[in-house]
Amino acid sequence: MQDFLRQTISDLVAIPSPSGEERGVADYVFAKLRAAGLAPQRDADDNVWVEVGPRGAKGRLHVNGHMDTVVAVDGWQTDPLRPVVKGGLLYGLGASDCKAGLAAMLWLAPRVRPTVRVVFSWTVCEEGIGHAKANGSRAMAATGGDWAITVEPSCDAQGPQLSIGTQGHARATVKFAGKAAHSSRPDRGENAVLAAARFCLEVEKLNAAFPEQHLYGGAIARATVAPTIIAGGRLSNIIPDSCEVTVSRRLAPGETQATFRAELESLLAGAKASFEIAGDGPCAMVDTAGPLFAAAKRAQVAVCGAERCSFQRGRTDAVVYAAAGMDTMTLGPGLGPQCHVANEHVDLTAAAKCVELLEKTIDGLGDRK
Ligand SMILES: [Zn+2]
Repeated sequence: MQDFLRQTISDLVAIPSPSGEERGVADYVFAKLRAAGLAPQRDADDNVWVEVGPRGAKGRLHVNGHMDTVVAVDGWQTDPLRPVVKGGLLYGLGASDCKAGLAAMLWLAPRVRPTVRVVFSWTVCEEGIGHAKANGSRAMAATGGDWAITVEPSCDAQGPQLSIGTQGHARATVKFAGKAAHSSRPDRGENAVLAAARFCLEVEKLNAAFPEQHLYGGAIARATVAPTIIAGGRLSNIIPDSCEVTVSRRLAPGETQATFRAELESLLAGAKASFEIAGDGPCAMVDTAGPLFAAAKRAQVAVCGAERCSFQRGRTDAVVYAAAGMDTMTLGPGLGPQCHVANEHVDLTAAAKCVELLEKTIDGLGDRK
């Protein structure tokens, strides 16, 4: 299986797939599924999926990974699109996020023997927002289901961890209003840039005060908040009368957009400012008393000898399936800290363990013995 993973991840890394340009990867996945004797389906956006398991079975599980990658960041020591294997690590853009997961699903789809229906899907436009095509997971989630596993990176050097939850996200656009004046007489104006700057410092204090949350199995979650974009002012000799700040708020378990709204209202009390909030919504937490997590725990003990849990920072499509009412967890062969960094790599030994773990989880779901 490790040979299969090495070859398939290498093939996938060599096919560029920035968001919106996943066609080459979709062609590859579709052809491999056909060659394995399955009957994959595909839509106009290049989402590919295949459904396996007994017809008429009770219960439906989604297993999903995204085909798109971010663009290469600075600092690569090799060509990001030419896979290199060194010391058990495979280097290449998307190796961990999420092409190892895509390869894992290509291994699993023809091999699993589940007692529930399983929809494997390879979808488009997960990375970032504002693409020409819709996020493919939304279309998959809309077909309904009971459980979902996103194969995003959840391994570290010791092997796979069960990710019991994924951070939620909200973002706010805060508009500060001021009063223009000649810059030789700032006292006659109201400087919106200064108001925004003071606000940003308060946001950082709020961030520093968030506590760690200790969750099931030793997993740790923590909320964060940070100003990420600031724009204001028009000319060097005018006191600015407007300034806009974008704030990114990562939600910990139990928090919602309303939590963030209340924080902003408190920070902006008395300021000439207004704000709007958008985002994905709250954390996607697996039900630690539910059948999906039970199957994953049994599989982890069988494959790795003991349970190990983590909490996923950053957004994944787990939130899409959770919002559609499914019990959702993240479990995938990539290395968590390798997302969106130079010299991205995947540990092939940990990846192989994770694929075994995924297979046992999928086959053990619904098995109540
Ligand atoms: Zn990803």
